Amino acid sequence: MKLKTKLSLGLSFLFVVILAFGILGIFYINRLSNDSQNVLKNNHESLVYCNNMLKALEDIPLKQNAKKLFEDNLKKQEANITEPGEREATTDLRKNFNELLANPADVSNYPQIRQSIQVINDLNQNAILQKNAVAQKTASDANLWLTIIFSVTTLIAFTIVVNFPGVIANPIRALAEGISEISRKNYRKRIYLKQDDEFSELANAFNTMAANLDDYENSNLAQIKFEKSRIETIINQMKDGIIGFDEKRKILFLNAVAEKLLGLKEKEITGKYAPDVALTNDLMRTLLQEDDMQKELKIYADNKESYFIKDVLNVTNNAQVIGNVIVLRNVTSFRELNEAKTNFIATVSHELKTPISSIKMSAQLLKDSRVGDLNTEQQELLKSIADDSDRLLKITGELLNMSQVETGNIQLKLQATHAGDIVQQSLQAVQFQAQQKKLHMHTNLQQGLPAVLADAEKTSWVLINYLTNAIKYSSESADIEVAVYKKNDAVEFAVTDRGKGIDEKFLSKIFDRYFKISGSQEHSGTGLGLAISKEFIEAQGGHVWVESKIGEGSTFSFNLNVDKAQTA
Ligand code: ADP
Repeated sequence: MKLKTKLSLGLSFLFVVILAFGILGIFYINRLSNDSQNVLKNNHESLVYCNNMLKALEDIPLKQNAKKLFEDNLKKQEANITEPGEREATTDLRKNFNELLANPADVSNYPQIRQSIQVINDLNQNAILQKNAVAQKTASDANLWLTIIFSVTTLIAFTIVVNFPGVIANPIRALAEGISEISRKNYRKRIYLKQDDEFSELANAFNTMAANLDDYENSNLAQIKFEKSRIETIINQMKDGIIGFDEKRKILFLNAVAEKLLGLKEKEITGKYAPDVALTNDLMRTLLQEDDMQKELKIYADNKESYFIKDVLNVTNNAQVIGNVIVLRNVTSFRELNEAKTNFIATVSHELKTPISSIKMSAQLLKDSRVGDLNTEQQELLKSIADDSDRLLKITGELLNMSQVETGNIQLKLQATHAGDIVQQSLQAVQFQAQQKKLHMHTNLQQGLPAVLADAEKTSWVLINYLTNAIKYSSESADIEVAVYKKNDAVEFAVTDRGKGIDEKFLSKIFDRYFKISGSQEHSGTGLGLAISKEFIEAQGGHVWVESKIGEGSTFSFNLNVDKAQTA
């Protein structure tokens, strides 16, 4: 039953109770008042008339108006006949009274008149007694009915009073409990109400909502679990080692590779504070060190040496770092390939050097007139053979140097060297090329330069490389300057040309291996000269740098430490 119907029924019941009490009360009060009025009107008045008539009968012989008084009361009695037998008695009274009037001297009528009056009197007195009994019964009926109705309605009202608050409060309590369970994410909660009203509709709506939330939660959970296991599978199958940390540096996970590298099992260390693990684990200690340099880490695991590069990735949520992941990139295969490449280049360059030198020598011999005269065309071909041999020798030389650099096999013969000697030696080496382009070579050596601690051969190689480039990129008859001066504890060497210059965006890459500026193919090279120069100078404790402006020329510089032993 609907709550609304229940409320309407409750109020209607109250209304009916009030109405029933009202109607019954009015009904019985009316009935009792009618009874008493009837008693007064029908019987009490007849008794009064009878009494008056008896008095007037006594007075008839004595008083003139006694007959009239009798007559008036008799008339009133005739008009007030209410009881059975009263009419006959009144008619007898009238007959006897009329006979008395017709024959006043006959006194024999008196007893009969008195008797008729007595009969009327008795009838009415009996009626009064009877009606009193009826009124008594009516009163007790009223009492009985009102008591019954009162008891029944009190019982019903009591049942309503006891039960009705529960009808509202119980489902509200059940709903409140259900809502708080849902807020605690217990989506299995359901509400079952026995009643069939608006509350049960509310409970049904609640149950539908909870079921939908449960479905959503389960599907979401299943999706999240699926995604988690997929990511775990991917992470575990990667060749790189992966270790996850939370923002408090507690270890969250590590994949199979990381387990092998660290020599630890995931379940042993997950949840542990990483610096605590680092106390007993060298690799973890190295990994936790914060260094920007991307150093290769040599790690011995699985009975072999492998090389890794550490990458640290921050994990963020709403622009807040909530942890990080260390990725140990396995670069062993690249390293092996690189080594193979370096070895191959070294072997090929070495093997090529001898035949190229002998080609160069043969070409020089051919040039000798003692071998035989050559026509102009043959001489040009010979020159081209000699030039190409030079270039090939330069390339093989650079490749050999590079393989030395890459394998870390730079052999340095450091000794006190005079900058002037290096400059002279280098200028001599490029003299022929410079003359061919009619270039003006200037030297600007500071007076009293101290000796530097250097490998003369390698430093000359670098200066020659700078000069060769300057010559290459200068137009005919241009100026090239070699300046050497002391600055702080070092001697700086600078080669300045007035060539085409270098775009600013390439300046940071110019000393990288195999870097060539696109569009400078007219002077084909390996792109290794400057990279080797950098390695040679840095191996001696110096630095290299370049300043250049497009269209104005370039200044390539390097510095070397002053030989302290000499200056002391
Ligand atoms: P390469 O042996 O190919 O010349 P380098 O390492 O010596 O290689 O030079 C790298 C690049 O730097 C060259 O390709 C060239 O474009 C640029 N470069 C070097 N020196 C100069 C210079 N003096 N003027 C302009 N560009 C230069």
